[in-house]
Amino acid sequence: MTLLILALIIGVTAIMSRAFERLHDQVDTLTSTEMENLMTSVRLVQQAESLINLGLGLSVANSHAERRQALINLTDRTLWVNQLTARLAQQGGNPDLINQVRVTQAQLRDNITELNELVSLRIDAGQQAGLERQINSLSHNNRELAGQLAVLMGYFSATMRQQMVAQSEQLATDIHVQQRNLIALALLLLVFALLAGVYFEVVVVRRILQMQRNVSAPVVDVNAFDTRGGDEISSLAKTVRSYVQRIQYQEARMREAHQELTFLAEHDALTGLANRRHFQAAARRLLRQSRQPLCVAIGDIDHFKQVNDRFGHAAGDQVLVEVSRQLSEGLRESDILARFGGEEFAIILPAGSLEAGHQVLDKLRSQIATKPFSSSHKHEIHLSMSFGLVLIDATPLLSETDEQQIESLLDAALRAADKALYAAKRQGRNQVAVAPETVYAQAV
Ligand code: GH3
Ligand code: MG
Ligand code: MG
Repeated sequence: MTLLILALIIGVTAIMSRAFERLHDQVDTLTSTEMENLMTSVRLVQQAESLINLGLGLSVANSHAERRQALINLTDRTLWVNQLTARLAQQGGNPDLINQVRVTQAQLRDNITELNELVSLRIDAGQQAGLERQINSLSHNNRELAGQLAVLMGYFSATMRQQMVAQSEQLATDIHVQQRNLIALALLLLVFALLAGVYFEVVVVRRILQMQRNVSAPVVDVNAFDTRGGDEISSLAKTVRSYVQRIQYQEARMREAHQELTFLAEHDALTGLANRRHFQAAARRLLRQSRQPLCVAIGDIDHFKQVNDRFGHAAGDQVLVEVSRQLSEGLRESDILARFGGEEFAIILPAGSLEAGHQVLDKLRSQIATKPFSSSHKHEIHLSMSFGLVLIDATPLLSETDEQQIESLLDAALRAADKALYAAKRQGRNQVAVAPETVYAQAV
């Protein structure tokens, strides 16, 4: 496109420059050559007319000195006239007219020669009637020829003038034509500039704006990029689209990584259960919302060290995963279960009473104790679990109770549950021990 516009501008400039050069040449010819020719022909008329008087001067000469002087003047002038005529003849002109001029010049020369001889004779021999008549006749002839030459020169000059007029008219016509060409070229250039503007608007500006709208949309649609055609804009659109795709891919990966990190920050990597931090946050929320007492329990696998010792750490891990699954399956959606570390689990049951909580835990305990776990070594692993349970009554909690107080309440409940667990261990394990006192919100 740019190349096309450049070529057009260069072409128009070259054409215009050529046209003006031609006009310049024409004006040059007209002003120098033709004008000079005209001047020359005008001078020739004057010179031819002056020959009349010079001829007269010769015919009335009374001494040889006067005669010679008149002859020199005449010869000079005649030579001058001949030279000017020769110059004009070189430039062209009517050949008949030039021929007539030459003939008249030759006659004039002969006439002057004869007149000179007769005048010389008269000076030497004195005045004689016959001689005088001859001189008068030749002088008359001389005037006639000089006059004739002047007339011919006048014709010559008129022809020159006509030629100049014709050339001026031709020049005016040429200028007019060039003027029209110039206007046509200017219009063409204008139309082309308009078309280029429209083309630029449709092909470049609109597509770039469309691309910019696509990119700045809240959700970038990669299919909305117009990559059709093989021009620079579509290759730009392809590049932008590929960048957007890469950014979207990276964003998706970052989202996944973020989700994974968030999950890992709140969950235990081995069992997938909530970790202590997540448990405490969820427990605080539950305590604040609950309209009934809750059961808080801590469960611990009995003699778990022996599992590791007998079957290896990997089998121990497998058992931890399996116990976690069983605990999850035995609890409800509204319950909170977390791995507190090692083989220790914390549970919150919105059960309402110790009895209800005890029932749920004892069922879990019994399931774990009766169903053996299998290890990768095809050994059956028999396990049991002990639980410490406490009732926590947070119902008198007011909505303005601050986090610190709730935290303290939860800590007190966990401590009480831990104590009850210790009691369960002491009393022979594989049992649910209940804390002797309910933890009340007012107590903390
Ligand atoms: P008790 O009945 O008194 O609770 O005895 P116990 O052996 O279960 O208790 P102890 O505290 O003596 O041992 C707990 C063991 O749990 C010790 C540790 O090696 C093991 N353990 C802790 N975390 C993990 C874990 O993530 N994977 C495995 N395989 N073992 C763990
Ligand atoms: Mg243990
Ligand atoms: Mg333990």
